Amino acid sequence: MLISAAKLTQFAADVFTAVGASETNARLVAEHLVEANLKGHDSHGVGMIPTYVNNILNKLLTPSASARIVRDKGAVLVVDGQQGFGQVVGREATALGIERARQMGVACVGSRNNHHLGRIGAYGEQCAAAGMVSVHFVNVVGHNPAVSPWGGREPRMTTNPFCVVVPRPGTWPIVLDMATSAVALGKVRVAYNKGVDVPDGALVDHEGVPTNSPKVMFEKPLGSLGPFGQHKGYGLAVMCELLGGGLAGEWTAQPEHPRGHNIVNHMFMVIVDPEAFGGLSAFRYEVDEMVKYLYSTTPAKGFDKVRIPGEPEQETMAARRADGIEIDTSSWQSIAKAAARVGINADQL
Ligand code: NAD
Repeated sequence: MLISAAKLTQFAADVFTAVGASETNARLVAEHLVEANLKGHDSHGVGMIPTYVNNILNKLLTPSASARIVRDKGAVLVVDGQQGFGQVVGREATALGIERARQMGVACVGSRNNHHLGRIGAYGEQCAAAGMVSVHFVNVVGHNPAVSPWGGREPRMTTNPFCVVVPRPGTWPIVLDMATSAVALGKVRVAYNKGVDVPDGALVDHEGVPTNSPKVMFEKPLGSLGPFGQHKGYGLAVMCELLGGGLAGEWTAQPEHPRGHNIVNHMFMVIVDPEAFGGLSAFRYEVDEMVKYLYSTTPAKGFDKVRIPGEPEQETMAARRADGIEIDTSSWQSIAKAAARVGINADQL
């Protein structure tokens, strides 16, 4: 099915309103999810609607919750999302961090107990829109781990996203935003729904044998995802777990903590005001010149050009704004079923 961003946003907002969210919160979450689709990350787009509806109905997600400051120590803020929509409480925590970074030059924010934060780049882009640089370490708990450590065959962590964003006022920011697993789990879900294979090197089955079949993540006997970049990606994933989970959330994937069918994201953010260094315009000059230098590289065989992080998302967004967003049949059926649970008829679309 091909659908416009505007129609999809209205539909998603209607579903969230029907399940108890305020119109403001419903709209914020809907816009965040559709932006993920527009930027090519269908794994973090409207395909999450069934999970969010289910978690609200099971009281694992509180649609009216706001972020609450639980510790305030100069450049350090600890903010509890009280299991609200990540897209609402994560945004609030980020806004508090931006304000603090403007006063202090830097802010370290522990944003804990957020329901799924979705696409982490959104919080970096929020910082960039305020002229800030930001770094985000995130862990994901509340359910069984899915990612095995480098050298192991059993899952011990989740997809622990990492993100760094550099502002470029007047144009789109440079956004490195990625799962530290070989692929995002949501992308394996999308492949499973479409009945297609995942790329080589992403998954192992329950015996530790490499496989391309996404089934091993959803049907028993379960396998696991591996880290990206072998030991280096694994190392970064561990740091997301320790800083996002251990420091910010005080809740890592270690087995003492509750596991069920929830999604909880803890995020450790460092927000830096370039004005506290050499100033935004001096920084911008170096950024622009370096980007020009990167673009001047002759493409390697099989590549059309060199890109900078965040560029593929801009390209996909331009195409999807023009052509619409494609949703596969299986994902749409799950979304329609979730909408029907709260009295919304998806046939209207
Ligand atoms: P990806 O592999 O598609 O992209 C990773 C990064 O590489 C992006 O910054 C992208 O701009 C950059 N990139 C891609 N191709 C490039 C090229 N040719 N040149 C330069 N840069 C390039 O992303 P992913 O790892 O599949 O992650 C997808 C999304 O999933 C992210 O938005 C992430 O935040 C989200 N995520 C969220 C959670 C959660 O619990 N909330 C967990 C895992 C992932």
